[in-house]
Amino acid sequence: MTKSKKDTRQTQRFCGLSQLSTMPVTSSDEDPLGIIEDATIIVENETVRWVGPGAEEPQQYADIPTVDLGGRVALPGLVDCHTHVVYGGDRLEDFGRRTRGMTYEEILAAGGGIHTTVNHTRALDEQEMADAARPRLQRMLAKGITTVEIKSGYGLSHTHELRMLRSIQRLKSQVPQRLVSTFLGAHVVPKEVSDPAEYVDTIITKMLPDIQAEKLADFVDVFCESGAFDVDSCRRILESARDMGFGLKLHAEQLGWTGGTHLGAELKATSVDHVDHASDEDLAALAAAGTVAVLLPSATLYLGGQSFPRAERFRKAGVSMALATDCNPGSSPTEDLGLVASLGCAVLGMTPEEALRGITVEAARALNLVGEVGSLVPGARADFIVLDEDVRDVREIPYRMGCDRISQIFVAGAPVH
Ligand SMILES: [Zn+2]
Repeated sequence: MTKSKKDTRQTQRFCGLSQLSTMPVTSSDEDPLGIIEDATIIVENETVRWVGPGAEEPQQYADIPTVDLGGRVALPGLVDCHTHVVYGGDRLEDFGRRTRGMTYEEILAAGGGIHTTVNHTRALDEQEMADAARPRLQRMLAKGITTVEIKSGYGLSHTHELRMLRSIQRLKSQVPQRLVSTFLGAHVVPKEVSDPAEYVDTIITKMLPDIQAEKLADFVDVFCESGAFDVDSCRRILESARDMGFGLKLHAEQLGWTGGTHLGAELKATSVDHVDHASDEDLAALAAAGTVAVLLPSATLYLGGQSFPRAERFRKAGVSMALATDCNPGSSPTEDLGLVASLGCAVLGMTPEEALRGITVEAARALNLVGEVGSLVPGARADFIVLDEDVRDVREIPYRMGCDRISQIFVAGAPVH
């Protein structure tokens, strides 16, 4: 008797959704968003158990508690698959310098750039790092983002990189979102190191084993760019990481062509991110490897770049496209994934459907979490957002430039906002 009572309490019906986008794991041309009208979601133990038109609901759920969502539009909680939200300080000075025409190199020479952020971040202890990131994550939640990937990469030493990763672990119990942790020790060569090869050795022989032992990261990422790490160094780091069981990611082809995208495809990385300058051969390799391209239009736009990765080329090549904020203090200080979806359409030429899949199911694919988050399918965590009364279609998110018409947010079936 106690058991059936418990089951009743843990099972809930969310009904009265005029339009629900389920974001199916496999896209179809006819219905990429998986639209259901007059939809019902049955949630059991924080997980989607059944989803479909209310009229087709199975008999077995007849007596469970009901939440009527009043004829509104809903979709899965958004997934931001590329962020750097743990950092100290800001880059306000750099922002002004850039508007006055200073180049990246000139800003670095004037004492700005990434090393400013490294200095500010190194000055924080583990809890202070978490304290700096938490309000950012809370604002992201208010914008409907229920899964967030966070990278290290502003520590750049064994001590400080592990401290950043531990702060991400700490945040997991402090915010409702699901957090994914990525080690980006190869972000830039630290200022105090004269020999980049020595730093790469430290990453491989000291940092990676300790990160693995403490289970501090799901992915290992590298910044493969001239001025950061070359293809050979990235290969060494990623092959070691792969052998240790980490998922692989790369920042590649953001500022120019280096061959990083091809390396990512060759190593079957989960995602290659930026890819602004990737060639058609690179895209063919990504498609063959099943590697997701994570497009970050807000970063390209913010830096005044002209070379946007046009969606048509990725579509033609058959590459999965995800979108992310790249939230970081230097090149993309935004927490608004809905705005990024708008940029995906307006600047990259994605369809509204591609942009919406790019911030949900395809972003989940870029985190190896397909079927767990980013889709409302049986077995997925019951993360969903309910839009305001005057929203009649989910495509209004990219259309209205930003995800600010949210009336309710549910994480694992519980209201959080
Ligand atoms: Zn990044």
